[in-house]
Amino acid sequence: MTIFKPEVLKLFMTTTIRSIDQAIAEDKLILLADPRITAIPIYENNEPMIELKNQTEIAYGPSPEIENNTCYTKIRKTVYEKLIEAQKLLPQDMKFCLYEGWRSFELQKELYEHRYALIAKEHPHWSHEEIFKENTKMVSPVILLNGEKNIPPHATGAAVDIYLTDNHGNILDMGILAKDWMQDVDGLLSYTHSDQISATAQKNREIMSNVLSAVGFVNYPTEYWHWSYGDRYWAYHTKHSHAFYGPITQNPEIITYEEFEKVEIRSGTIIKAEPFERARKPAYKVWVDFGPIYGIKQTSAQVTKHYSPESLIGKQIAGCINLGKKNIAGFQSEFLLLGFSDDNGNICLITPDPKVSNGQKLH
Ligand SMILES: [Zn+2]
Repeated sequence: MTIFKPEVLKLFMTTTIRSIDQAIAEDKLILLADPRITAIPIYENNEPMIELKNQTEIAYGPSPEIENNTCYTKIRKTVYEKLIEAQKLLPQDMKFCLYEGWRSFELQKELYEHRYALIAKEHPHWSHEEIFKENTKMVSPVILLNGEKNIPPHATGAAVDIYLTDNHGNILDMGILAKDWMQDVDGLLSYTHSDQISATAQKNREIMSNVLSAVGFVNYPTEYWHWSYGDRYWAYHTKHSHAFYGPITQNPEIITYEEFEKVEIRSGTIIKAEPFERARKPAYKVWVDFGPIYGIKQTSAQVTKHYSPESLIGKQIAGCINLGKKNIAGFQSEFLLLGFSDDNGNICLITPDPKVSNGQKLH
């Protein structure tokens, strides 16, 4: 693999950089933080993450970006299953190796700011917007141009950075490795369709692209190694109305006791349940007695995997009753029935043990 020094690169400035900018101008390449991407709603499906350290199917490289990175070997379950599916489609003598999966917000911010400074140094007269756009070609921001918080793909567990190895773990010629992306300030070598890399590297990228596309992943075209499934970028390109993986944070936002006090989670008993025929996903209509003050409230609940309507009758549950009313396929939902997801994303309801009176507040 040849890594050109940045000064040398400048001399033959090149069809690749022209094609990146041209693709953006012609709207064939949409940047990660484009308003069309960030406008896509996310309906989190609460699918768990898989720790690659606990399996042997997909290989992973050394700790990326920072020392002792404990995030990078985790990815969402379906993303993991699709990677295995794609790996089976590779030629016999090739395997995937993961460079990075999940990435914390903190690390994302650090990487973004580091490359921002590099670009600003190289282009001292550029405005914030120009540097922002250039930076977003290769690294997703944590804060958008309009000041709002962004949800970077790696923070959702939906994105993987990967490369190819042979069956003994020797890295194949990919043109440049994800670990060297900071050196590729103009992005000339990282661009999936770069013409600045060897014919072998171009061929290897093509093989990788074909199998990953075949199982439903979407590539970020400025980085041959970045593929995602189920995030906003994926939803936009596959014409899905929404993404289904939201951010996973190691350090949740701190709220006050006063804020927690405002959440009205009350005990109730299910008195009636029936199949909800018109719901998009399998669900029941459920009626709950929340006691003399709050009365009977109804909701729609996707709890069909672990419960039949009959098994729900008489069950004591917890429901959040101050989220307002919501219309779901013509049925008014008046509270949120609470539970945890099991490892397959199916809801397990929470129940007081032992029983309590209906209408008690969780605190
Ligand atoms: Zn990536």
